[in-house]
Amino acid sequence: MKIGVLALQGDFSEHLSMLKKLGVQAVEVRLPKHLDDLNGLIIPGGESTTIGKLAVAYDLMEPLRQFGTSHAIWGTCAGAIFLSKDARSNQPLLGLMDIKVQRNAFGRQVDSFETDLNIDELMKVSGTPFAYHAVFIRAPLIESVHGNAKALSTLEDGRIVAAQEGHLLATSFHPELTSDTRFHEYFISLAS
Ligand code: GLN
Repeated sequence: MKIGVLALQGDFSEHLSMLKKLGVQAVEVRLPKHLDDLNGLIIPGGESTTIGKLAVAYDLMEPLRQFGTSHAIWGTCAGAIFLSKDARSNQPLLGLMDIKVQRNAFGRQVDSFETDLNIDELMKVSGTPFAYHAVFIRAPLIESVHGNAKALSTLEDGRIVAAQEGHLLATSFHPELTSDTRFHEYFISLAS
């Protein structure tokens, strides 16, 4: 099992540490050729406009889209925005996931927050239900899911913060900033 982490900008090193902790081979992806022998790819949090611009500059847009048609990709926060079809803004998007996102939906940096979520899908890796402690930093909201995309988790008021479309995964929050490895384990199960 070999998972790549897009390492153009953002908190890719936290994802790499998490994957290594789980005994998975984890590599940085900066060029199209780095995608060659991967089972899956994580796109980290950071700034989606910057990640998009750099992906264009490094000729990664088409190779990433191609990779996503047959491999697992998980976008956290800015990565989720980059994966989406619609972010209501003029910026480079992969357009792989049929979700509409709203950037910075919870306000500014000072409005970052943490909350416990119930995510049934994580039962598949832990076997027992226990809440997932999620960290939101200038997070996007997944406004709506379309086509084959489905909501995986919502806040208490029903707003969507995690979605899945086949082997594609998007989370508004940052599992790589906690010590809970369940989301990474779930993604690895999608990649294998
Ligand atoms: N606000 C950032 C964006 O719009 C995402 C923030 C994050 O990844 N923590 O791209």
